[in-house]
Amino acid sequence: MYRIRFHGRGGQGMKTAGRILGTAFFREGYEVQDAPRYGAERRGAPIFAFVRADKNPILERGIIRRPDLAVVADDTLAPVPAAGVLAGVDAHTLMLINTHEAAETWRQRLALPGRVLVLPASAEVEDRAALPQVGAACAGAAARLVGVIGRDALERAIRQELGHLGEAVLADNLAVALHAFDLMADEAGSLTERPPQIADAWQPPDWIEIPFEGADISAPAIHGALTSELMQTGLWRTLRPVIDRDRCNRCWWVCSTFCPDSAIRVDGEGNPHIDYDHCKGCLVCLAQCPPHAIRAVPEHSEQGGGA
Ligand code: SF4
Ligand code: SF4
Repeated sequence: MYRIRFHGRGGQGMKTAGRILGTAFFREGYEVQDAPRYGAERRGAPIFAFVRADKNPILERGIIRRPDLAVVADDTLAPVPAAGVLAGVDAHTLMLINTHEAAETWRQRLALPGRVLVLPASAEVEDRAALPQVGAACAGAAARLVGVIGRDALERAIRQELGHLGEAVLADNLAVALHAFDLMADEAGSLTERPPQIADAWQPPDWIEIPFEGADISAPAIHGALTSELMQTGLWRTLRPVIDRDRCNRCWWVCSTFCPDSAIRVDGEGNPHIDYDHCKGCLVCLAQCPPHAIRAVPEHSEQGGGA
């Protein structure tokens, strides 16, 4: 069975990448599962989609924990633990990263135990959630790495999945996906299926005996207050709001009230300060600021200063 995970941000087309690859597998006679997994339905938030494909009925369910191929559409997510890119990645896993950097750089940076390949990233854009056709590129490259999907099956899958978006969008995505497919020609078939797990060889883990406790003690508290602070939604941001202190007239009740995440605190002098651990980058504050004292800076830009 092939197990493939696509990692990216909401808006980058990872669900579509999974759909295209799954449909291409299906057209080649495979049984297929494909499904996206959202932590939060918001543009910029980390998401992943996964595809299983096998010549036999697929009995496995749930998310893929040990991928044969992990495709990373946005390299800023690769080192972020909360994005889960490296979950279950081992020596068998082939990593494909859409990036401007070299494969060896990523292999060393992330201490990856398996092979790393690079999908050369297109020109940088201001808002990474809007990377053009990156989902199609990832699907096309993955299809070639698998080695059992033909160019024709990939093209038909893209027409099936994206045809409703109109000829212009379809043509752009086809061009990008087929280019990525061709780019991976030297690596066709690099992806191998993980040997099946044999139940007879299963060994129980080293259990830790935990003394029995009554449910009033051991049951999790699901109504605990103030836990949202632990959810660092700053990871979702692709554009960073930055306050221009020279223009800010300290009408703090405007930006701090409109911020849906209460991510703007106000100091004793009435100056607003953005909490970048929790600011999710919705830019409501930018739209509401009367003197336009807040600007948006690409998160990946080196000029991304703080406020
Ligand atoms: S709304 Fe704009 S001008 Fe007013 S305090 Fe906030 S950043 Fe400053
Ligand atoms: S972009 Fe502005 S309004 Fe949106 S979460 Fe960040 S600080 Fe709040």
